[in-house]
Amino acid sequence: MAESFDAVVVGCGIAGASTAFFLQAKGLKVLALERDKPAAGGTGLSAAIMRQHYSTPLMARLAHAAIRIFQSASELLGRDAGFRRAGYLFLVPPDALAAAQRNVAMQRELGIDTTLLDPAELAARMPWLNTDGVAGAAFEPDGGYTDPEVATEAFAVAFQEKGGELRTKTAARGLLRSGDRITGVLLDSGDVHANWVVNAAGPWAPPLAQSAGLAMQMRTVREQDSVWEARPGRPLPGHSISNAVDAIYLRPLGDRRFIVGRGFPKEYVDVDPYNYKRTADDAFVADVQQRMVLRFPTLDGARLVNAYAALYDVTLDWYQYVGPRAGVDGYADFCGGSGHGFKEAPAIARELADWLVEGKVRADFRQFSYDRVAANNLFVLSYGGNRG
Ligand SMILES: Cc1cc2nc3c(=O)[nH]c(=O)nc-3n(C[C@H](O)[C@H](O)[C@H](O)COP(=O)(O)OP(=O)(O)OC[C@H]3O[C@@H](n4cnc5c(N)ncnc54)[C@H](O)[C@@H]3O)c2cc1C
Repeated sequence: MAESFDAVVVGCGIAGASTAFFLQAKGLKVLALERDKPAAGGTGLSAAIMRQHYSTPLMARLAHAAIRIFQSASELLGRDAGFRRAGYLFLVPPDALAAAQRNVAMQRELGIDTTLLDPAELAARMPWLNTDGVAGAAFEPDGGYTDPEVATEAFAVAFQEKGGELRTKTAARGLLRSGDRITGVLLDSGDVHANWVVNAAGPWAPPLAQSAGLAMQMRTVREQDSVWEARPGRPLPGHSISNAVDAIYLRPLGDRRFIVGRGFPKEYVDVDPYNYKRTADDAFVADVQQRMVLRFPTLDGARLVNAYAALYDVTLDWYQYVGPRAGVDGYADFCGGSGHGFKEAPAIARELADWLVEGKVRADFRQFSYDRVAANNLFVLSYGGNRG
């Protein structure tokens, strides 16, 4: 006889692990499937910068809620989830100052602790920063960064401690469908039936959806990152930083090391998620080094430690696809992190669990459903928005 669960979650990155946890916490019998090991996808190589600086109340609210989830990990998950409250800085160019002021005002209304610093304050507080061309910076003391593998593991282990079952090295080969209902997943070992299947397979979510005739418009683009080690004895940035002036981001890694990557605007190159170049390009490393040293002269002479490429799963409007869809029962999406989806994933997972189990969904959250594509109701991208 086929196995049966209340819910099957496919994929154990941060989205799948946190969704499995919150569904199990509601008393469901949950199976989480991971074809490799937890955080094997984009999650494991994420810079995992934690910020609440978004341009819409929906995303700012979720990022704020997620930081509180990470901060309370010891009580919620019984262990540290790798979050470090190192502070977050968003460097603003002159043509974006008005938008940044609006965003900061909106974020403060949501209860987020954030302040817009002027260049003189920046120069006084951050001696490692070249403020030329910087019109201001939003600073959040509660932001910072997270160790993405520790976080995913924390949710996965807490999920299992609550009675959930995680099967690693186990791929979902396809969805089972009967009429208008998704009834489970197909494994190499046979069929598994479920009332709900959550597709949290990241860049590999589209083929899974399409196995049951469900459309999913998503790009997979290659994202490169580099790790640098500063010379000893220099003042170093302690915060995570999005630098919209030079289009780079930086986050501390400990031991004088920093992850540095390119931010928007930049070229996004589509790749095959099953076959892409995992090492970084020399041109990327040279470009990022030049931008890094220009803005952070204290990193002059820093040693390149590592450089690599991973995947962004990018939706039509750079917002995740989350929740059930009209016309098909028993199925929900949670994918399309679009290069910024680590930080808010646990907060999305919690609201997704409310939606699936209790039918409770906030009006703004409902727009996450893939139904927005057919309804031509995409989110609107604006400055300080979602692009990773
Ligand atoms: C280089 C880089 C830097 C980033 N920096 C940031 C940042 O600073 N801040 C931020 O918030 N976000 C950042 N992001 C984005 C963020 O990391 C991702 O949006 C998020 O981690 C995606 O998580 P996920 O669980 O949706 O997908 P993934 O981590 O890709 O997980 C999907 C999982 O599903 C598994 N899987 C796939 N198909 C199947 C199947 N058929 N059966 C079973 N398992 C399957 C995969 O093995 C994988 O483990 C970054 C991403 C990258 C790549």
